[in-house]
Amino acid sequence: MKEMSIVIVGAGPIGCYVGQLLTRQGYRVRIIEEHNEIGKPVHCAGLIGKKVLDEMRIPFPRESVLNRIDGGIVHLNGDCFRLRREEVAYVIDREKFDKAMGAGLNVTYGTRCVGIEENGRGYILETDRGEIKADAIIGADGAHSAVREYVHQKTPVEYLKGVQFRMEQAPSDINMVEIFLKKPYFFWSIPENEKIVRVGVLSRNPYYDLLDFIKERGFQGRVIEKFAGLVPFSHFSTFSKGNVFLVGDSAAQIKPLSYGGVYLGMRAAELLADCLCSERHQEYSSLWKRRFGRELAITLKARRYFHTLSEEDLERIFFFVKDNTSLIEEKADFENHAVMVWEFLKRPNVSKEILSILLKLVKNNFFQNEVNYATK
Ligand SMILES: Cc1cc2nc3c(=O)[nH]c(=O)nc-3n(C[C@H](O)[C@H](O)[C@H](O)COP(=O)(O)OP(=O)(O)OC[C@H]3O[C@@H](n4cnc5c(N)ncnc54)[C@H](O)[C@@H]3O)c2cc1C
Repeated sequence: MKEMSIVIVGAGPIGCYVGQLLTRQGYRVRIIEEHNEIGKPVHCAGLIGKKVLDEMRIPFPRESVLNRIDGGIVHLNGDCFRLRREEVAYVIDREKFDKAMGAGLNVTYGTRCVGIEENGRGYILETDRGEIKADAIIGADGAHSAVREYVHQKTPVEYLKGVQFRMEQAPSDINMVEIFLKKPYFFWSIPENEKIVRVGVLSRNPYYDLLDFIKERGFQGRVIEKFAGLVPFSHFSTFSKGNVFLVGDSAAQIKPLSYGGVYLGMRAAELLADCLCSERHQEYSSLWKRRFGRELAITLKARRYFHTLSEEDLERIFFFVKDNTSLIEEKADFENHAVMVWEFLKRPNVSKEILSILLKLVKNNFFQNEVNYATK
């Protein structure tokens, strides 16, 4: 098996991570990357849960950590509450992080995958610089994956557009992320240090929404950098076709409530590497589903419900959570959001009011087709 030639498309964090895992197992791995260097352009807020660091199978590049996060401040209509959890996450420099993940790997730069063709028992990877033969291909080529075209020609993918500004602006608390709920989306302000914050939103019209938000909050600081990117959502029945596999954003392995993708992408990379190493290639999708399928199904529904909440119901839920912050501080899992839904429902003081909101949402969404809040 180790004679197998594996080509990974995309040198993002997930492609590089699976590359490192396979290389360490003795595989011949080649990565092709459309850009001329790893880590640019950045399209990420760079908020990484501590679990990413704790569970990685290779040393976490600590030099990429810029700040430590001890919780969050959630805002709605001028009111707010704090959730404290010591060292729950880190703010990282994504360019440095990605470059460290790719160190020592065999990467061919400036080469874009444009298609895949079967070739006997293997494949021909078509690129803008010619053809590459491979026994197996791993698509780690992000939100607009070309490899996904081969695996899932027909499954629809929904996208949210994101924009983020890095601004000279003192955060209200250097170790707290701020979330500003504004239906149907939310804005974030992530402190990089005592002078710089990352302010962003994922929405239909993120650039103008963000400009309005910055004006509304009275942020006056200079904009140092601007980033944009896409977050994909879909429900794929499988992540592979033959020996062509999808991992990370190309497989829409994204948390539907916070839009974080690094944690789930890394867990998927480990499952895929384990399956390849133990010659159980075709078990990758089912193993992933067994581990994360339920969590994703629940949080995808929760996301859909959030979009259909009325302003009044959102306020009621906000105040209910505000009165129960200790539960979140105790039970919440930065990477597993479904846990909280169950913990709240188990609470004896879940009022009739909250239960009636939840029932109304379930009913409305059960009888409705998917609400079209997506942008393409
Ligand atoms: C605004 C925004 C904020 C975000 N904030 C966070 C956050 O705070 N925390 C978090 O965990 N996640 C966040 N995410 C999601 C996170 O950025 C992604 O989940 C993560 O980057 C996925 O990694 P990946 O390696 O799968 O894909 P990518 O990082 O997109 O890497 C894909 C790589 O493939 C290359 N490529 C693409 N197409 C081709 C091709 N055809 N041929 C060759 N190479 C190709 C690209 O150049 C790139 O290098 C955010 C996303 C957005 C849009």
